Amino acid sequence: MKTKRSTKLFLPFLLLVSVSLACNQLTGASVTPTQQSATETATLIPVTEVVTTEPADPNAGASGMGDSLYPEFGNGGYNVLHYTLDITVNNVATSDLTAITTVEAKATQALNSFNLDFVAFDITSITVNGQPAIFERADQELTVTPSTPLIEDETFTVVVQYHGSPGGMQSVALPFQTGWVTIEGGSFVLSEPDGSASYYPVNDHPLDKASYTFRVTVPKPFDVAANGVLTETVDNGDTNTFIFEARDVMASYLATINIDELDLETMEPANGIPIRNYYSTGLPADVRKPFARQGEMLIYFSELFGPYPFEIYGAFVMDTEFGAALENQTMSIFGMDMIDLDDVEGTELTVAHELAHQWFGDSVSVADWSDIWLNEGFATYSEGLWIEHTDGRGALDEWVKSEYTTVTDFPEYFPPPGNPAADNLFNGGVYLRGGLTLHALRLEVSDEVFFDILRTYAESYKYSNATTDDFIAVAEEASGKELNEFFDDWLFNEKIPPIPQMGLE
Ligand SMILES: [Zn+2]
Repeated sequence: MKTKRSTKLFLPFLLLVSVSLACNQLTGASVTPTQQSATETATLIPVTEVVTTEPADPNAGASGMGDSLYPEFGNGGYNVLHYTLDITVNNVATSDLTAITTVEAKATQALNSFNLDFVAFDITSITVNGQPAIFERADQELTVTPSTPLIEDETFTVVVQYHGSPGGMQSVALPFQTGWVTIEGGSFVLSEPDGSASYYPVNDHPLDKASYTFRVTVPKPFDVAANGVLTETVDNGDTNTFIFEARDVMASYLATINIDELDLETMEPANGIPIRNYYSTGLPADVRKPFARQGEMLIYFSELFGPYPFEIYGAFVMDTEFGAALENQTMSIFGMDMIDLDDVEGTELTVAHELAHQWFGDSVSVADWSDIWLNEGFATYSEGLWIEHTDGRGALDEWVKSEYTTVTDFPEYFPPPGNPAADNLFNGGVYLRGGLTLHALRLEVSDEVFFDILRTYAESYKYSNATTDDFIAVAEEASGKELNEFFDDWLFNEKIPPIPQMGLE
């Protein structure tokens, strides 16, 4: 993810408005004292005072995954193996959908009931292993009770039929609508961190990755761009069905289905990886320029990070403005306001950022949302690495100095990256200070060891999840150095540490 407000992009705006106004607009998402004290009070209630009238069902799957920032995201008791989203778009203007989502999963405990995350829509029926199931809904939680309880390690299939329009998702973590967003003339999906439940029933936490099949039917002349490989397009007369297979496991927030009239651009494969880009029809030809070097970027990042982890890559550019770009797996999405037609090289940094996320964020995903710097710090530093590739080490040093100065000039917008607030997940600190943490590590351990760390980390946690501690363990093992104090200073100290090798303090 790259947003206009979480990086330096907002600074020119910041300087134009009064400080107090800027504080309201730009940090309106920070935790209020009331919220903090409520949380503290809640955690102080002694367990003995909790009175329950009935014992909790030991065989009910948990309603959350226990994430430290968002404990109710995802669910417990099972792992999803594969999702099939069979969606018919009856009306593109309203995103009126008729849909069947099939969830193939494996129980990790005995289950009398389990939860999925899902909002809006009318549910017509739910079956588990072909038998009708009872279900109830409360906010984002859909509780399913199969007619026959599931036993531990059992593989089971849930089929949810529903219709209606996606509910507008306002995430606690972001100041704009996420999930399936309907715009004039089409729709797009940008779900980080919890928008996926706006259009399919899901175990919505990066800890439960799965492969996907997308079967999306749209009226002509609309097109569909989704994750993975387009394996088939079926002409039904008035409609087309687009079938995409995303065979590598994927975190749920990276699933995307975009509907518009689209131009497809096929590029020269890079290291054998096909690259295809989708652009809204009618966008100027210049919009393609910042994407022209994606193949070169993919080859360069493969040298630094190890082999590109997926079977295809590319970009999707929508003719609308939503203030963000997101690294949807195998197909990053860009709003037009993230593309500066007059600054191809500057926009290339955002293109490099989203591509680098395919390794850091998509293949290696966070195990807990509080570790988001493992995504954003790495992708931000990759912008610097692209500058180093195109303009040399001196240009990288200048970039590092500029980023460091920004953080020290506006510390309130760049808190320590290791400890983001739940309502300010994508704060500037996880980006800029997170990226600078990696440069400081590079200077601490040498170039050779640093890139060995990145490759070992990417390989060790490929298609899986990692924590900050996992990354530190890899760095200590590869360098033979004790680095806990180094990372404590960089990730958790209120004040950014100096970079003495560059005279920065
Ligand atoms: Zn990002």
